Amino acid sequence: MTRKSLIVGSGLGLLALVTGCSRSAAGAAAPSPSASAGPHAWSYDGAEGPEHWGTLSSDFGSCSSGTAQSPIDVGGRSGLSPAPLAVDYSASEGEIIDNGHTTELRALTAQGITVGGKEYAFKQMHFHAPSEHTLGGVRHEAEFHFVHQADDGGLAVVGILARVGATNAPWAPFTDGVPAAADGQKVPAGVVDFPALFPASLDHFAYDGSLTTPPCSEGVRWLLLETPIELGAGQLATLRAAHAGNSRPVQPLNGRDVVAVDQ
Ligand SMILES: [Zn+2]
Repeated sequence: MTRKSLIVGSGLGLLALVTGCSRSAAGAAAPSPSASAGPHAWSYDGAEGPEHWGTLSSDFGSCSSGTAQSPIDVGGRSGLSPAPLAVDYSASEGEIIDNGHTTELRALTAQGITVGGKEYAFKQMHFHAPSEHTLGGVRHEAEFHFVHQADDGGLAVVGILARVGATNAPWAPFTDGVPAAADGQKVPAGVVDFPALFPASLDHFAYDGSLTTPPCSEGVRWLLLETPIELGAGQLATLRAAHAGNSRPVQPLNGRDVVAVDQ
């Protein structure tokens, strides 16, 4: 059975795909944080870094004026009614694309999740290294964002944290293909066992946040899995070689509820 019950967080990194303005024209050898050009240029340091995103474009105002931004430090739990997460993923051919800020994995067949009875279609998965969300102030080696979108346009992002450990075979189709995608070309990933990309437990933290990249749009349903996965040191090094430091600092919680969902 391919249906796996899990709770997912909300969405980071979706932006690039949704806005389409972050794809680097440069790409190739060393996609840097500042690879994208034009009026939507932004990066992870310097004059176009996260503290300046809100002033780089009139479209990026939420990055500085928003009050429900992501990522956050998940440090506590509050008691709202949890919305169960169901993940309906199956093995599929995939393709890998570098957008200049991160490397994405897409599925060539439909995948999706249901959160609280609402269906969201899988759009793409990408990574941040190190992690963007922190757990009690602790940052992980990497964080993967599975971005989903509902028919009404609403976004739901499932975040999965990663720490160094044994080589993770199900993740190899992605990590092996990341270097070849650095030139801006679509790289076939072969068959990806999408359900096997997730940790065994789907317990997660749910909260309402934003895209973690410009335009930092809010209204994103976040599902951050509590249990990290392990990736081999070589796999993590491969990710960092493509995009290192592509992580937005944690943002103020501003009284938002973070709900622990045990499934
Ligand atoms: Zn992201």
